Amino acid sequence: MNRPFPNFEAAGLVSRTRRDFLRDAAGLVLGSAVLRASPLVRAESVRKKRKVVVVTFGGGARDQETFAPEGQENIPHMLSEMAPQSSFFTHVTNQGILGHYVATASLATGVYETLNNFASVAPEHPTIFEYFRKQLKRPSSDAWVVAPSNGFHRIGESEVRGFGPGQGARVILPKRLLGLANAGGSADFEHLLHDNYETPLYTPALAGGEVELHQLEMILKLSVGDFASHARTLSSPDELSLYIAKRLMREEAPSLLWITMHDIDVAHSGAYSLYIEGIRRTDRLCAELWKTIETEPEYAGNTTMFVLPDFGRDSDFDAGGNGFQHHRTGDAASRTTWMMVLGAGARHGVVYDTPVQSIDLVPSIGAMMGFSPSQSGGKIIRELA
Ligand SMILES: [Zn+2]
Repeated sequence: MNRPFPNFEAAGLVSRTRRDFLRDAAGLVLGSAVLRASPLVRAESVRKKRKVVVVTFGGGARDQETFAPEGQENIPHMLSEMAPQSSFFTHVTNQGILGHYVATASLATGVYETLNNFASVAPEHPTIFEYFRKQLKRPSSDAWVVAPSNGFHRIGESEVRGFGPGQGARVILPKRLLGLANAGGSADFEHLLHDNYETPLYTPALAGGEVELHQLEMILKLSVGDFASHARTLSSPDELSLYIAKRLMREEAPSLLWITMHDIDVAHSGAYSLYIEGIRRTDRLCAELWKTIETEPEYAGNTTMFVLPDFGRDSDFDAGGNGFQHHRTGDAASRTTWMMVLGAGARHGVVYDTPVQSIDLVPSIGAMMGFSPSQSGGKIIRELA
């Protein structure tokens, strides 16, 4: 059962400890409100081309397996390559429901959504994709989501009056594409096709498979055969998502790209070694995505990348929890996460322990890109604005 969010002190402790880990391991210095960001971005001409990539970090990992001294060997890329270039926020709290779809929807709307995590429903408030496209008059090709499971297929847009169907992001589900590509075939994709580890209560029957395969060929410029044969070489669903995301960046170059990683959540199975393997892979994939951003001409120099978990995992010390395995107690460890911001508008090597919330992401991106998410309950993170 999720507890409400009473424990500000415990969250502060998690944050300060994390800050010290980053100072020691990656040389980050403490930022302050005096050090305002955005020295690199001013003119309207820059804003026009501004791009944002959001990556949710794999269903949540604890500091013991990541930023703490004993976990640092699992995230070599983030610590040595990414953190020193980033503005790092150590005190990000998620005060909503700790289920992956509902938490990701909350990140995307800037409102703590209360929808049923396991239902095939749209977010109850306009998404960042709808605000972005409507206010900046962008085409559907400019906002994309790459998501892990069929359960995320409605993440791209709400049903709110004035927004809604056709006005949000196009959602691509790599595992679904793979399933379609292999329909009637005999290839062994079981390792890529397995779904969320939190038992879904439903498997949405998505119609329109032919349309999606057509997308694969038309938009991603990828034949079904090539896609399937490449997928055979990949080791995880997140690898497949990254492959699709890179293809999208090359072919469509969306200004707003949202990628949900999920491999780490294998922790629910109780296998610690698979959880660690998931963290190491996600670390590597995040670095690979950042390198792609730095080298793709459409993205290099004008892109801000946000990396953040949707929430954390339980501590070993809460009576109601199972440690790394789940995220159900609502304790400080499961609610107090972090956010790494790299690229345009972000200072290098600065750590902030100012408390921010999951729902602050959307208004902060809005301030960067030039739109205003009117229904979001979050605040603009002033260190980024
Ligand atoms: Zn989970």
